[in-house]
Amino acid sequence: MTNSANRFSTLPDADALLEFDQRHIWHPYSSATNPTPTFVVERCEGSYIELSDGKKLIDGMGSWWCTIHGYNHPRLNAAAEKQLKSMSHVMFGGLTHRPAVELCQKLVALTPSNLERVFLADSGSVAVEVALKMAIQYQASRGKSNKAKILTVRRGYHGDTFGAMSTCDPINGMHHLFARSMPTHFFADEPPMGIDRPLTPHDLASARSILEVHHKEIAALIIEPIVQGAGGMRFYSAEYLSALKALCEEFDILMIADEIATGFGRTGQLFAVNHADVQPDIMCLGKAITGGYMTLAATLCSEEVATTISQGEAGVFMHGPTFMGNPLACAVACESIELLLETDWQSNVTRIETKLEELLGPLRSAEYIADVRVLGAIGVVELENSVSLNDIQPALVAEGIWLRPFGKLVYMMPPFNMSDEELSILCKGTANVLEKLHKN
Ligand SMILES: *Cc1c(COP(=O)(O)O)cnc(C)c1O
Repeated sequence: MTNSANRFSTLPDADALLEFDQRHIWHPYSSATNPTPTFVVERCEGSYIELSDGKKLIDGMGSWWCTIHGYNHPRLNAAAEKQLKSMSHVMFGGLTHRPAVELCQKLVALTPSNLERVFLADSGSVAVEVALKMAIQYQASRGKSNKAKILTVRRGYHGDTFGAMSTCDPINGMHHLFARSMPTHFFADEPPMGIDRPLTPHDLASARSILEVHHKEIAALIIEPIVQGAGGMRFYSAEYLSALKALCEEFDILMIADEIATGFGRTGQLFAVNHADVQPDIMCLGKAITGGYMTLAATLCSEEVATTISQGEAGVFMHGPTFMGNPLACAVACESIELLLETDWQSNVTRIETKLEELLGPLRSAEYIADVRVLGAIGVVELENSVSLNDIQPALVAEGIWLRPFGKLVYMMPPFNMSDEELSILCKGTANVLEKLHKN
């Protein structure tokens, strides 16, 4: 059977879908006139994505950090089906329900002990908007309305809406394009790379000097703890994070930990702040919160932040999404968290860490590879030169692998239950593709 005959047997109109897609549909960071290759997915199961032509790809991306238990998980499916039968959605203004309460109980119990109030948001970017607004309303409510700017570090990523975008790395985020309509904030030097790198006095000099001059204008610091994700897949030390927290306290600003990518075990701790034993004032969660089933996020804050806001001019916190606390998403999130805690997730993440290091580490010696770094269930291969998606994505797919490299970064964050054998296929296949591309 030819490839195209096979494709028609499983999905008669895959070509037609693609044609319409390319003609009418935006994809993440996509071009309407020069689209990158796009593949039609039929179904997903465990660690695999099945394309319309029947080809199965081993998924190294966990659908962008989300899928921690693998696709099509019977427990998560059952939780969604059960919830569907009572209600998939009901408004959250004036009403509450079991899935939201149970989820928030879990979040309060699992996150650092000072975080006691939960705001349920509908995506990571919205959770960041909520966090920024909380920090600004908090400062205004204590009579410090001048403290309305945000401090962050370079190479960060916090989402794509205006507020979130304004705290992303100004170069990666092409801030100049939006300069006339976007708030401007303060950017300290990026954290020095290396989980075990000892802190030097120089490391915090840039953040300190900004704070010395501008602390009266700054409401909060926002940072991705330990792992900077989309801004460069950079890992930095717990010591650095602790020192930043101390600076926040010294200069009377809040700390917002953006754990949207790192939360729920990815880095080897349930939350990345746990590496440093830091208690942020505000924390954003998202991505893996529903095990990759649907969109949901949360912003937690301390009692001090919550009560101060509530005693301020507005008397309320000024945010309320239509789909706030969506019961279907909350029910699946509850089940995903239970599943995570029931399994020995930490051993699993350590197993993946060891395996990724064993399989990807040897690539360090190749001349076209600049660096290989591994932390928890995250593996990063940094190339010497940028690679085009048009070249690498079809080559990876031909090898039976799903990865979505960007720039010089080929990286993976597999589901925690990916087997050793599947990890081998994933890493060896990736290495083969990189070598082939290099030779061409
Ligand atoms: C993905 C991400 C966001 C944005 O989340 P969306 O759900 O895509 O809006 C924010 N912060 C970090 C650290 C992320 O990785």
